[in-house]
Amino acid sequence: MTDALEKTIPKVGIVSLGCPKALVDSERIITRLRAEGYQIAPDYSGADLVLVNTCGFLDSAREESLDAIGEAIAENGKVIVTGCLGAEPDVIRARHPKVLAITGPQQYESVMSAVHTALPPSHDPFLDLVPEGGVKLTPRHYAYLKISEGCNNRCSFCIIPKLRGDLVSRPAAHVMAEAEKLVGAGVKELLVISQDTSAYGLDIGYATSSWKDREYRAKFYDLCKDLGSLGAWVRLHYVYPYPHVDEAIHLMAEGKILPYLDIPFQHASPRVLKAMRRPANQDKQAARIAKWRSECPDLAIRSTFIVGFPGETEEDFSLLLDFMREGQIDRVGCFKYENVVHAASRDLEGQVPEEVKEERWHRFMEVAREVSEQRLATKIGKEVDVIIDEVDDEGPIGRTVWDAPEVDGAIELHGFKKAKPGDIVRARVVDAGDYDLVGEAI
Ligand code: SF4
Repeated sequence: MTDALEKTIPKVGIVSLGCPKALVDSERIITRLRAEGYQIAPDYSGADLVLVNTCGFLDSAREESLDAIGEAIAENGKVIVTGCLGAEPDVIRARHPKVLAITGPQQYESVMSAVHTALPPSHDPFLDLVPEGGVKLTPRHYAYLKISEGCNNRCSFCIIPKLRGDLVSRPAAHVMAEAEKLVGAGVKELLVISQDTSAYGLDIGYATSSWKDREYRAKFYDLCKDLGSLGAWVRLHYVYPYPHVDEAIHLMAEGKILPYLDIPFQHASPRVLKAMRRPANQDKQAARIAKWRSECPDLAIRSTFIVGFPGETEEDFSLLLDFMREGQIDRVGCFKYENVVHAASRDLEGQVPEEVKEERWHRFMEVAREVSEQRLATKIGKEVDVIIDEVDDEGPIGRTVWDAPEVDGAIELHGFKKAKPGDIVRARVVDAGDYDLVGEAI
């Protein structure tokens, strides 16, 4: 490309903050920008315009987003804001009046039209090439597949429904078409995400839609089964613990989808769960987990919990630790409760002092470490498929079927000289630490 041509191409810088769902939004925007002939600039100085995709979930994330907007304005000057915090334009304008435009989450059309106004597209068909599978911000061998937006639940600590609205499911045919395209482009692992994966299709009456001469039903179980037929790993994230989740366990036992369930329980004390406005039958949850494991012994459970929720007593907290041990929760994320602006739980009595939250968090993480160590010790001697994420001087590092990228553990491999990122190899687990495994070629 000549320098003259290079100079005429409009360049957009992207700052992407927040969760995997926001990352998918950024990927979609980048795909659209590339399709329209924009180039993505690697830094502020090379960009004609900067797009900041914000997160507005916790107060700390809101601050981080506001700081990122400030940095982009200082470094570049032309800034468009989108994402979760974009649902609160007054907050952004109060701090950063120079922002060119603000749009909310998933408002792809509005983002594109704001970009068009500030930086008109070039219309050179030579540049309108989009790699098959879209432009991924994740490594090529795995991709996040978003099946719905929004959430019909009203957990008292969460403002996502306020920011993203009620559940809106994508037609099953669209999800399947995107998944197949990703697999065709070399993706080996599909990470199914949404705010509430097990509610998929509820808002559209579990409607069927057709793709390639077949009808596909927008329902959790059907989607798991259909995605499982594409020949890639399928990993389920953000599965709310509805009873019908049980139906998918046999698909895991049969190897159709990965034996992995990311199911945010948030707590185990019925009193706290009630205050959180979550299903409060935790006695049954432990029995349910035992039943799942009897059907699919290989099942790994990932969950997230909140400690220090308003009103949480030492007794409530002990119930949570008991649940962790009894349920043998393989992988966990734990958050200290934050009094998020606009969250219903903000007005609850019995706010827990910061030092108590801190102390409980450390105790919780110690139990999580113990459980993880115990669970991983049971894997020694087993044979397992491993997807390679990277290869360094020591050899390949990968993940087993029990580990999601970025949030879970890894397995260090020996005896795989030719392995490269994206390969799926068979290994025997020979050692285990607190969170990671060691494996070797069989
Ligand atoms: S299910 Fe998840 S997204 Fe929905 S309200 Fe509860 S925490 Fe928020």
